[in-house]
Amino acid sequence: MRERRKVIISGVVQGVGFRPFIYRLANDRGLTGFIRNTSKGVDIEVEGSADKIRIFLTDVRTRKPVAANIYAIRQHKIRLIYDKGFRIVSSRIEKGFTQISPDIATCSACYSEFMDRKDRRYLYPFINCTNCGPRYSIIINTPYDRRSTSMKEFEMCPQCQHEFEDVDDRRFHAQPDCCELCGPQYSLFTSKNRLVNGDPIKNTIRLLKKGEIIAIKGIGGFHIACDARQGKTIERLRKLKNRPTKPFAIMVGDSNRDQVAYISRAEHSRLLSPPAPILLLRKKPHNPVNRAVAPNNPYIGIIAPYVPMHYMLLDQVPFFLMTSANRADEPIAFSREQVMANLSGIVSFCLDHDRDIENRCDDSVGYVASDKKFMIIRRSRGLAPAPLTIPFQVKPSLGVGPFLKNTFTLANKSEAYMSPHIGDLDNLETMVFYKEMTQKYQRWFKIEPELIVHDMHPEYLSTKIANDLPGKKIAVQHHVAHIAAVLAENSVNDKVIGIAYDGTGYGEDGRIWGGEFFAGTIRNLKRAAHLRYLPLPGGEVSIIKPYRIAIAYYYKLLGQKIGRNKWRTEARSIWNMIDKNIGLVETSSMGRLFDCVAGLIGVTEEITYEAEAAINLEYMTKKGVKTFYQYAIEDNDIMIIDPSKILKGILYDLKKGIDPGVISAKFHNTVTEFTLDMVQRLAGKYSTDKICLSGGVFQNRYLLERIIDRIRTAGFKVYLHQNLPTNDGCISYGQVVYGNMRERKERI
Ligand code: ZN
Ligand code: ZN
Ligand code: FE
Repeated sequence: MRERRKVIISGVVQGVGFRPFIYRLANDRGLTGFIRNTSKGVDIEVEGSADKIRIFLTDVRTRKPVAANIYAIRQHKIRLIYDKGFRIVSSRIEKGFTQISPDIATCSACYSEFMDRKDRRYLYPFINCTNCGPRYSIIINTPYDRRSTSMKEFEMCPQCQHEFEDVDDRRFHAQPDCCELCGPQYSLFTSKNRLVNGDPIKNTIRLLKKGEIIAIKGIGGFHIACDARQGKTIERLRKLKNRPTKPFAIMVGDSNRDQVAYISRAEHSRLLSPPAPILLLRKKPHNPVNRAVAPNNPYIGIIAPYVPMHYMLLDQVPFFLMTSANRADEPIAFSREQVMANLSGIVSFCLDHDRDIENRCDDSVGYVASDKKFMIIRRSRGLAPAPLTIPFQVKPSLGVGPFLKNTFTLANKSEAYMSPHIGDLDNLETMVFYKEMTQKYQRWFKIEPELIVHDMHPEYLSTKIANDLPGKKIAVQHHVAHIAAVLAENSVNDKVIGIAYDGTGYGEDGRIWGGEFFAGTIRNLKRAAHLRYLPLPGGEVSIIKPYRIAIAYYYKLLGQKIGRNKWRTEARSIWNMIDKNIGLVETSSMGRLFDCVAGLIGVTEEITYEAEAAINLEYMTKKGVKTFYQYAIEDNDIMIIDPSKILKGILYDLKKGIDPGVISAKFHNTVTEFTLDMVQRLAGKYSTDKICLSGGVFQNRYLLERIIDRIRTAGFKVYLHQNLPTNDGCISYGQVVYGNMRERKERI
């Protein structure tokens, strides 16, 4: 039976070779009709035998191009037209959303050509096709075509032009298509901006081998690279970058990767997936990489080559360190001028190329959990700006995001566009980057926000930015945004218990929250329980020196004066502050409780990057410990978890000389126990069996796995983030979601 169907596909289906794929699929089956890009995805009409159309539709899902991401396929029967052949027709872009594909790692077909001596693009480092290459990072404007990208500077040679126009060619409509004759080129410069003669990539290899530190231009910005086997070079880089312990990631090729880390099949395919993220993998004990890359760390961040040039370097330097080229917390450098201005003291050479980076983005980071789920830690290159969905209709809105690990989210109707990772909004460079990106997003996605959602903290720069923008403003509490984000990502409408274990977030009562339980729905979340408020002496300084938190908590909760001799003076002033109740910030933060324990055990005296002490505490946990400490829960209207007995138990163990690794495991187990206890109480009180988790503390894999396991075994349903990080990278999305709910209620 002959029929005709209209098929509407939404998702990331533009700039990823989707139209030629459909064209071939339809032609192979002898189906007629057409496909065109629309502002939301693609529209297809197909006509032919019902059987063939059915197979066609299955193939669309199962054989789609690797970089395509289908969100939904809707289809219905329409009238027969009896047209001849299948065509690709021009786009129909209405006002509204347009799509931008994230950048895509070099595909296997391009890699084969790249390595093929007979191919005209043999060893041409900018080889790309419809399935791979730069996208987001080169876009100037939408809709996405060559004239609106930084490839506009390069006029296609006749051969490339021919490929571009030939629907049967795998470079049909590949906007960044180019070759040695017509495309970009690399060149190498000294840190004094002098051109180095000779083959730029061969020279880079020679210099890396010699132990030089080099800035290398990639897709979303420059990296600082050096040989990951040379300890002295890495130590020098650590000194220059003022980064004593924070782990670096390394790039390793296929053949050498399993020398460095244990890699499961799921991890392997994630490494080689189109976004090519940095994956945290369990390190092998004896590996060729210098230990200075990730000292005292059971994991190592590994990234696969994702542009052709990476393969050329790896051929000669099999393990190289890669880190975003920036000073401390500033955004990644994207031009040689920036490298020269800011990094000439760190790098001695700069491998540049002449295709501009229009939009910078750092490498994305994640890990594969034991249930094979990909857990995102930083959502950036390869992932942004793919749209996220919101399970209800929102106004044109902007979520300005948090203070640390900022991202913003621009949304309209049921679609949300989150920026790549921007960074900590505490320096001018980042602020400039932030403002530039919010403007670009508004232009590209044609959303003029009517609702601006910001944090409750009146002093945050993001709050100040929000206040300067036109439109209605709504403040959403940090941890409410965390929970709203998980709920929306999982389309949960029912009543839930939301647990936010986090570092810092400004609370509704002006105190610092971070060990929070909420009850309610996505429309209305109410604080139901929290960790006891405890004093943070001197605020920020105690976050850097975790032993100060131990001194304060022990004195406040147990009246005990703990602390080593070298801390005596500091301890005295802290006790004094508590006695007189001056200079204290009260906090219910779970992150600080971890700091307290880490500080007491003496894991990390002073942290040099966020959550370092808590991370080290996690890494020292002894396997196989099942015991835990006593704790108390006060059953008030808002319940309180009191850690007094926990601290008492830890001090007792410490004095008995118990292995700190055992103490750490027992502490982690205790947090698991009281979490389950609280879940059971609140689930009864609010009659729900749905639990959702968010917050930076859940980046602790030991804790997260145990909490999930215990809560599930007890019969609850657990919801986690799907496409967003559990850290503050999810906040702007949660702000948009909850801000719209609040705004609706205000109107009614
Ligand atoms: Zn390709
Ligand atoms: Zn060409
Ligand atoms: Fe947070």
